[in-house]
Amino acid sequence: SKWVYFFGDGQADGRADMKNLLGGKGANLAEMSSLGVPVPAGFTITTEVCTFYYDNNETYPDDLKNQVMENLGRIETIMGAKFGDPKNPLLLSIRSGARTSMPGMMDTVLNLGLNDTTVEGLIALSGDARFAYDSYRRFVTMYSDVVLGVDHYHFEEILDALKEDKGYRLDTDVTADDWKHLVGVYKAKVLEQLGSAFPEDPVDQLWGAVGAVFGSWMNQRAKTYRRLHHIPAHWGTAVNVQAMVFGNMGEESATGVCFTRDPSTGENAFYGEYLVNAQGEDVVAGIRTPQNISIAGKERNNSDLPAMEETMPEIYKQLVTIRDNMELHYKDMQDMEFTIQRGKLWMLQTRNGKRTAAAALKIAVDMCNEGMIDKETAILRVQPEQLDQLLHPTLDPNAPRELLGHGLPASPGAASGQVVFTADEAEAWAQKGKKVVLVRVETSPEDIGGMHVSQGILTTRGGMTSHAAVVARGMGVPCVAGAGEIRVDYNKKTLTVGGKVVKEGDIITLDGAKGEVFLGEVPTLQPELSGDFADLMEWADAVRRMRVRANAETAEDCSTARKFGAEGVGLCRTEHMFFDPKRIIHIRQMILAEDEAGRRAALEHLLPYQRQDFVEVFQIMRGLPVTVRLLDPPLHEFLPHSDTEIADVAASAGVDAAMVKSRVAMLQESNPMLGHRGCRLGITYPEVYEMQARAIFEAALEVSETAGETVLPEIMIPLVGAVKELEPMRALVDRVAKETFAAKGREIAYQVGTMIELPRACLQAGGIAEHAEFFSFGTNDLTQTTLGMSRDDSAPFLEVYTQKGIYARDPFQSIDVDGVGEMVKIAAERGRTSRPDIKLGICGEHGGDPNSIHFCEGVGLAYVSCSPYRVPIARLAAAQSVL
Ligand code: PEP
Ligand code: MG
Repeated sequence: SKWVYFFGDGQADGRADMKNLLGGKGANLAEMSSLGVPVPAGFTITTEVCTFYYDNNETYPDDLKNQVMENLGRIETIMGAKFGDPKNPLLLSIRSGARTSMPGMMDTVLNLGLNDTTVEGLIALSGDARFAYDSYRRFVTMYSDVVLGVDHYHFEEILDALKEDKGYRLDTDVTADDWKHLVGVYKAKVLEQLGSAFPEDPVDQLWGAVGAVFGSWMNQRAKTYRRLHHIPAHWGTAVNVQAMVFGNMGEESATGVCFTRDPSTGENAFYGEYLVNAQGEDVVAGIRTPQNISIAGKERNNSDLPAMEETMPEIYKQLVTIRDNMELHYKDMQDMEFTIQRGKLWMLQTRNGKRTAAAALKIAVDMCNEGMIDKETAILRVQPEQLDQLLHPTLDPNAPRELLGHGLPASPGAASGQVVFTADEAEAWAQKGKKVVLVRVETSPEDIGGMHVSQGILTTRGGMTSHAAVVARGMGVPCVAGAGEIRVDYNKKTLTVGGKVVKEGDIITLDGAKGEVFLGEVPTLQPELSGDFADLMEWADAVRRMRVRANAETAEDCSTARKFGAEGVGLCRTEHMFFDPKRIIHIRQMILAEDEAGRRAALEHLLPYQRQDFVEVFQIMRGLPVTVRLLDPPLHEFLPHSDTEIADVAASAGVDAAMVKSRVAMLQESNPMLGHRGCRLGITYPEVYEMQARAIFEAALEVSETAGETVLPEIMIPLVGAVKELEPMRALVDRVAKETFAAKGREIAYQVGTMIELPRACLQAGGIAEHAEFFSFGTNDLTQTTLGMSRDDSAPFLEVYTQKGIYARDPFQSIDVDGVGEMVKIAAERGRTSRPDIKLGICGEHGGDPNSIHFCEGVGLAYVSCSPYRVPIARLAAAQSVL
């Protein structure tokens, strides 16, 4: 079989679409060569050889050697030089190249083919002994490090000693004779370390380097990178062997990098930088300040150095032509590397360029408007997650900052404010016009007011679905959660991290998208929702099949949701409506009441609030469906803790504080997430759900009558596990509907459905569907119960789990397809069997996660529902999942 693919001189065995076989770099080198772009000749050893190598005890296929030598001959012919020739030596670069680029993860060897005889040839060819010996010593150190495993520091020590000895300050002070001498010392060091000599034979060098590149596929760095980027090990890497060209052969030589459009703004302007008389590694090392390619770039960067457009106008023109051709050919922004050797331009690499979110959006929309790509392609060009950066304020990337610590990226956006440690302080300070960041070990429902007025929220405990995280995302307030390295001392009013102490009133900045905490104020940039953003969203909406709803319960959330294009509310968590301090007292009273009469008294207080809430929600969401979930309070989130709280509840219920205290003690659950919550509350205290159903129907009738608006309520029963739980709850809702309609003399259409958030519900979905017009998958609880992992306690060990690859991603962030996904599939199938037109949706946090959204498309869900700020992300991800 064919293991080696040649490229160079306008020819190539491979093509751009052969990335799986040739790796990204090899495939693009082949493509460029066939397009007539000047590429130094070379060949690619395929990824199949890598696979073979690891399947066969690190050996090569029999016919590889012949193929390599034959293609080496072709390079020699084209480049007019011979590998190992003492007069006219061909030198090679050996680089890895996987399907997707893994920058810096694998090994590279440059200047290969140099030895004590060929170096003389290089001197003759270049007329520059210093250059030749410098190249030689670079090769010996690189090869020894990468291929022979002799660590770099040995050579650095030797060089430092020489410099000290001779009184040199810089590497540029080192002379040709010094480098020549050093090469000898370096080789002696290798002999001492390994007990064998540095290979002089260029062919031995070549095979050593090829083996090292294949070997580097399994180094620790590469393994870690693959795990983080979900790249499978079986892909393997290719090896690219290519003729060396030199950007460091004097003032007519240079090396650089360019982008066909500006990678930070997306502007359609050629952008790039280069260094005269330098090698690629010098650009990366950032020791010298590079020059701009274009005059426009020079002006933009306020550079004093002349641009290539001025100093090398011919080469510049050639580069601009290549830029135009490459972009037209690849129909995407290209990131290209080039070298100029004595006035001749060589292209070394092209690939789709990495870009900021703003640039991705602008380039996609511009290229579509220019007719270069169609709308579908434009939609696929922007990563949904990237949009997050555009919907919230972000930290000014150029601003200086001091990192204090990090936690989970719980709610995106960047914000600064003065540190306060209680929700009450937050409200008091905010009233005085101060900007605050609320710092808590964790938050609970009574903190809601303080959370709302804060610029940002920082907690030291809890995961991505902790109270702080969920509430902050819903509010669009930036939040860093579970920052475990930060210690909070409520008594001293300080937070401590790594020896630094931050006091109440000190300013910190949060980056909720990255989960980072900074000391002091870091300036932010504001989002822009019109223009390109609006265009791309419109295109996405035209192709997607699934609807996108929002999880929202307040007027503010609902307005945000509509502004971001939500097509309904998929989850209105009614317990969140009671977080307000005026109301939580009655909820507590209700929970703590000893009998039905006590509960009914509390519910009387709640009914008008609740009705008014629904009136607002229905009005804002007019014409769109609203799924209202009946009460689902994990008790620990609602029970009073402090004596003042207990006294308040007692006073409002007109009972003794001691009695309330003993009820609180009685109601303490050791596992509240699996306790008296969800429909279990409705089963035991039907009057609670009765009140809520009444409030919903009265509000719906009111809005549909006074405003003449269509109201589409969908009433949802939470945490159902058995048909016999849903049956009576549905009967209750239907009865209240009938009563309310009779009392008002008018009817409206409504639906009753259920959350599917327990494994038992998935298995029983057939029977459950007989009583439910819709299912909404509550994948937060379904993940918690299917995996048997607490959503509040699992963050610390899940981090280790994802590191070890036990779960590829945090299952609370991205749906666990093999477990929870199977549950969803079973439920969907069984539900559809007994009710073919059942409406299926998802309202767990996964509803806003692009990977999970692809999964939902596969299951054929009707909609996904997510927090308001993720609606645009979900719209784009839903569109991509049908393309
Ligand atoms: C869920 O469990 O996925 C859900 C949406 O409900 P909650 O997060 O309120 O428990
Ligand atoms: Mg739930």
